[in-house]
Amino acid sequence: MKKAVCTFLAGVFLLPAAACARPVEPDLSDYASGMAEIPVEILGELDEETLADLVEEPKYVALTFDDGPREDTTTRLLDGLLERGAAATFFVIGQQVPGNEGLIRRMKAEGHQVGNHTYSHVRLITADMDTVVEEVHKAEALLTEAAGEGSFWLRPPYGRIGAERAELIHTPMIYWSVDPQDWKLLNKDKVVAAVLDAVRPGDIILLHDFYSTSVDAALEIVDRLQKDGYDFVTVEELFRIQGVEPQAGVLYARPDRTRSLD
Ligand SMILES: [Zn+2]
Repeated sequence: MKKAVCTFLAGVFLLPAAACARPVEPDLSDYASGMAEIPVEILGELDEETLADLVEEPKYVALTFDDGPREDTTTRLLDGLLERGAAATFFVIGQQVPGNEGLIRRMKAEGHQVGNHTYSHVRLITADMDTVVEEVHKAEALLTEAAGEGSFWLRPPYGRIGAERAELIHTPMIYWSVDPQDWKLLNKDKVVAAVLDAVRPGDIILLHDFYSTSVDAALEIVDRLQKDGYDFVTVEELFRIQGVEPQAGVLYARPDRTRSLD
């Protein structure tokens, strides 16, 4: 029903106004998720693109950003993700939280996951045990203050922590399965190409919101992969979708693949 007609009818027949705000399109989410077969009479009316979307398995991928927040680049990234309806995960350096609390709150409010990348980006695998605990807890305290209580999953700087030190960590730890080396390339087109070349459903992509070229690349990656039928979800959502319960102290490259700690 056209909105104007609906509003008119609402006036005449006292329909609840909310009824007019409902989408005109039928809700096909059950069909899309494979929960129901598509009735033949609907199937005949769908255009080819919609049909392909319904028949294909949904594809999910997680973008992760390390080493922020940084006011200018992270703000631009959040604006772009919001515009595109894409969620991401931010592994934040604790000492960069003071002064950027608003960005952390914005991440949470806009459906992103906030994670811990230690207080000062130390090499955990060689740090002494007390330093490991202190670095993780100090960042956690700042994140809790900015974002409220929560579980802030850890991404060890450089992706390494070692088995002995991993026992000190009381959250899941996240590595990655696609690394375009954006910090080294500092070139949007090369980063986009490296990711599009490698990406598969269920991947965890490593990027850094600290670099302007990486923000440009991330937004183009979202545009290109969304066109290809991908949905961008947080790491936590990716685990939930794949039915994997992540364990504390375990380092995951993807929900279905752990990584050796040494
Ligand atoms: Zn880092």
